[in-house]
Amino acid sequence: MTKDRVAQWIRPEIQRLSAYRVADAADLIKLDAMENPYTWSPELIEAWLERLRQVSVNRYPDPQARSLKLRLRQYLALPEDMEMILGNGSDELIQMVLLAVAGPGRSVVAPEPTFVMYRQIAALLGLQYQGVALREDFSLDLPAMLQVIRERVPAVVFIAYPNNPTGNLFSAEELQAIIEASPGLVIVDEAYSVFAGETFMPRLEDYDHLLVMRTLSKIGLAGLRLGMLMGNPAWIKELEKVRLPYNINQLTQVSAEFALEQPGGLDEQARLICKARAQLQRALQQLPGIQVYPSDANFILFRTPPHQAEAIFTAIKERGVLIKNLSGQGGLLTDCLRVTVGTADENHAFLKALKAGQKN
Ligand code: PMP
Repeated sequence: MTKDRVAQWIRPEIQRLSAYRVADAADLIKLDAMENPYTWSPELIEAWLERLRQVSVNRYPDPQARSLKLRLRQYLALPEDMEMILGNGSDELIQMVLLAVAGPGRSVVAPEPTFVMYRQIAALLGLQYQGVALREDFSLDLPAMLQVIRERVPAVVFIAYPNNPTGNLFSAEELQAIIEASPGLVIVDEAYSVFAGETFMPRLEDYDHLLVMRTLSKIGLAGLRLGMLMGNPAWIKELEKVRLPYNINQLTQVSAEFALEQPGGLDEQARLICKARAQLQRALQQLPGIQVYPSDANFILFRTPPHQAEAIFTAIKERGVLIKNLSGQGGLLTDCLRVTVGTADENHAFLKALKAGQKN
């Protein structure tokens, strides 16, 4: 029987996991995955297609993506003595880091709730994952973090800055204390930093066990899958051994470079999104029974009255808008929903659907 053979040979820790599920968004306004809502102008699309025409798809891509990396270094203002490794999305970089440190007795620490992929990848590699609960206002519980770091001696500490799904930026002083107390590697995941205007990039010079991670996914290029991990060359050199040679395909290399060359670049839309975020936040605050959390990212977390999250989520979806229901994760996220900031029209449609959903 196939089933028995699968059960015999697939590692038990993998059999216990569930595959990452992505909701089907067909025909829905998509405000569930922190994508940038803006598309390119027809002129820009033409220029991009012209560039793609020159690609030789019969050839492998540049395994080092040298030309793209030069552009990225400039865009990210990476200090000259620091190195960069690219991933097929930052998801793949998390996987590379954990592959490089995995081994008996090795552990990974992160505050919780946070981005689920840290736990998921740690679990499939047999690493011990220890989440440390955030306080009720989603700030770091620094004494608890420091204690777990002392006890577990983690190979890696992940801190999303700003955090997903809570949307807040942790205190920079507390984060610094965590970096200083950590015996292994600290990854500051800055997937949403353009919406916060804060970065630990300059601190790379101060801490040689700090790596900063970024992605192009939240600033308009989620479809390309490109993440960047930066820091001391000694770490990057080892991680390069884990990276598959052609992980960044040719179309992604050329397209990302093209996007970064555009005047105004990717950050202009981020400014529009921040403006829309403030409006959406104000509108949500006016709704009775809804508790809105402050956000430094391109999404907003809010709490419904007890036991209503599922019904409100479904009512919003029935009205054509897909957001994210986090209530099932329990703990601090009980009764919580998360909406990505979209265009003015999309945000309006969401608010209308939410108001109608509350009435039911
Ligand atoms: N880090 C955080 C904090 C995220 O929220 C996400 C996406 N949800 C990622 C990393 C993964 O991004 P990418 O698309 O680059 O894999």
